[in-house]
Amino acid sequence: MTLLETKDLKKYYDVKNGKLHAVDGVSICVEEGETLGVVGESGCGKSTLGRVVLGLERPTSGDVLFQGKSIVSCGRAERKKLRPNMQIIFQDPLFSLDSRIQVLDLIAEPLLINKVYRTRSEANDRVKELMEMAGLSPRFASMYPNELDGGRRQRICVARALALNPRMIVCDEPVSALDVSIQAQILNLLMDLQESMHLTYVFITHNLAVVKHISTKIAVMYLGQCIELASSREIFEHP
Ligand code: ADP
Ligand code: ADP
Repeated sequence: MTLLETKDLKKYYDVKNGKLHAVDGVSICVEEGETLGVVGESGCGKSTLGRVVLGLERPTSGDVLFQGKSIVSCGRAERKKLRPNMQIIFQDPLFSLDSRIQVLDLIAEPLLINKVYRTRSEANDRVKELMEMAGLSPRFASMYPNELDGGRRQRICVARALALNPRMIVCDEPVSALDVSIQAQILNLLMDLQESMHLTYVFITHNLAVVKHISTKIAVMYLGQCIELASSREIFEHP
């Protein structure tokens, strides 16, 4: 079943001398349980595409369908209801995590904000479960993000992203800031979770090698457009 579809999606930004065509007519389709790798040079529009797909920004034109429903033309209430189904993991965990908050509280945050639980202590068991799912030892529970290495910080972000049982996660360069030795660990974690939780990924990266192993399908972007969309096998096949 198709989980996500974009139809001639455009996102233009107003800049000093006109319009910047960050995303310029992208039509893609992602099946449930699949990983779509989105690759291309820096500045080609990958992150913008990710933000618009998640409903964090409104497109200039075109449509985004999630489970067949437009998240562009639906009302705010409907969009809010869909939000827990779509999460994002960013490149730099230090940037997306408040360094004054302990690991336990960082992971409890989405649960409390979305009123899954009323109090931290009620959320405790679920937080521990999420830590385990993300491969974080309980001994890190009361530590702060900057006391942990990059890989463990990214595991906190993974635990937070899983908290609301999403259908889809946009991974925006999730391993690019990590030591090479840790990159494979995080990629393996994401792949294991995909299988156990039936997740669908949009995996954004400038590094074609990273998506080779994990993507079912690859979209190659250039200047805001998707210039190639094919199965991973086709893209890497020798002519
Ligand atoms: P990528 O993720 O492939 O590096 P981005 O989506 O970040 O590309 O950016 C695509 C283009 O849109 C770039 O030229 C970038 O400078 C521009 N851009 C992104 N966000 C904004 C914004 N909020 N305002 C103006 N220009 C933007
Ligand atoms: P409502 O239909 O409830 O009035 P709107 O769809 O008009 O809600 O939008 C409400 C708010 O959400 C506005 O601030 C708007 O900029 C923002 N918004 C609308 N569509 C999107 C979208 N696809 N992605 C992100 N924000 C959006």
